[in-house]
This record gives sequence, C-alpha cells and structure tokens, in this order.
Amino acid sequence: MRRPLVAGNWKMHGTRASVAELIEGVRRQVLPGDVDVAVFPACLHVAQVVEGLAGASVMVGGQDCAVEPLQGALTGEVAASQLQDAGCVMVLLGHSERRQVLAESDQVVARKFAAAQACGLVPVLCVGETLEQRQAGETLAVVGRQLAAVIDAHGVAAFSAAVVAYEPVWAIGSGLTASPEQAQEVHAAIRAQLAAADAELARGVRILYGGSVKAANAAELFGMPDIDGGLVGGASLNADEFGAICRAAGS
Ligand code: PEP
Repeated sequence: MRRPLVAGNWKMHGTRASVAELIEGVRRQVLPGDVDVAVFPACLHVAQVVEGLAGASVMVGGQDCAVEPLQGALTGEVAASQLQDAGCVMVLLGHSERRQVLAESDQVVARKFAAAQACGLVPVLCVGETLEQRQAGETLAVVGRQLAAVIDAHGVAAFSAAVVAYEPVWAIGSGLTASPEQAQEVHAAIRAQLAAADAELARGVRILYGGSVKAANAAELFGMPDIDGGLVGGASLNADEFGAICRAAGS
C-alpha cells in the first residue's frame, strides 16, 4: 500500500513576512496521520521554513538543485548537499517551468536526479506534456521519454527512493485540471513503464498528480488507483486550502 504524499510548491513566491504567516497557517492545520506532507519554499526561505515547521510533521524540500552534488564553484546554483544541510529531505526536479523557461533538458534533469540522491534527498521528478503535444496525441510518448531519460541514466532501481509527479503543462496555474480519467491514464502508463523493468518496485513508487489541484477536485483525483497524492502550486499558498487538500488524501 502506497502512503499518499501531498506536496506544496510555493514557487518564486513570498517574503519573510508572508512566509512566516504561511508557516503559522500550515501549523494550524489538522493534518491526516496517514498522509505525508511536504512544502517546497523558495531556496531563500528554506531555513526559515525548516525552523518554523520544526515538530510539525511537514517535510521541507528544495525546488531545484545543481547538477553537481557538492558545494563548489558554480555561481548562482544550490547544491543538493547544501539543501540537505539546511534540513531539506526532498527536491523537485524537472518542473515544466524550468524545462520551458530555462530550457532544462532531460539530460540535465537526469544529472540533477543523481546529484540529489547522492546527497540523500528524495527527487520528485516532474514530467508532463504541453497542450500542443496532447492535442497531437503525443502525451504518453512525451512523458515516457522524460521518464526514460532518468531510467536509462541511473537504472530503474533509482526509483525506489524517488517520487514521480505527472503535471500536464496545460493544467499548471491555468485553472484547467486533467480529469481523473485523463490523469489516471498517464499515471498507469508511468507505472507500467517502471514495471516493465521491475514490477515490484513499480508497485511501490508514488506518482503524484499536479495541475490546478484544489480542495474541490482533490478527492476525486486522489481516488484514482494510480494517483498517490498531489503536487500543489497556487492552492498551497493558502494554508487552509492546502490543509483541506492534505485531508482529501487521507483515508
Ligand atoms: C505546480 O507548479 O507544480 C502546480 C501544480 O501548480 P498549480 O497547482 O498552480 O497548477
């Protein structure tokens, strides 16, 4: 049985003051005991959030890490080892905003994946298709290629300590959500791709759905057999809404 995970991606939002309010809001939530909860603040706020959520059963992660695992001469980047040192236990990798705006390739994402795991962080590998790709019937091929880049580079065994997040690009921040059936189809394909290499491992990998998840649609999405929780952007900036989404993932 896979334990659900609900992850809040705070993106490039927040000031020290607004982050302090969000921390207080998250601390006030009644979170289900059978769901893992994590938040991913901007790098600048990681230390504040780790300190502010101490003892709150909420994990903290980074939104990206460098291709090199250890600290060194790489201006502007943050090493996985530094995230780990700051109290992070997870890291988002390959978010579509980075793939699109910063032209992050599958190969770069695969290197970051290895860097994260080398430092004991759990990578949350984001995959997903654009609207044009979906309309062209390329969804499963695109997602399959993004996943294969990591499997080919590091072997399927690397996914025993990783999470996959299916995030259709057209659903991110757009208010459009994949229907539970649309999402399930892709989640099942992701699991089948992993299962082709290792069926038992594939059964244990958590696959999150992301793309305009909110309290109103979370339960229906999380009720699908291969959807093991959510990666939540905009709605995670409202602590009450985020708390409700976390509760929707509970039994
Ligand atoms: C995201 O950025 O990971 C995301 C899913 O955003 P939103 O929930 O705002 O669509």
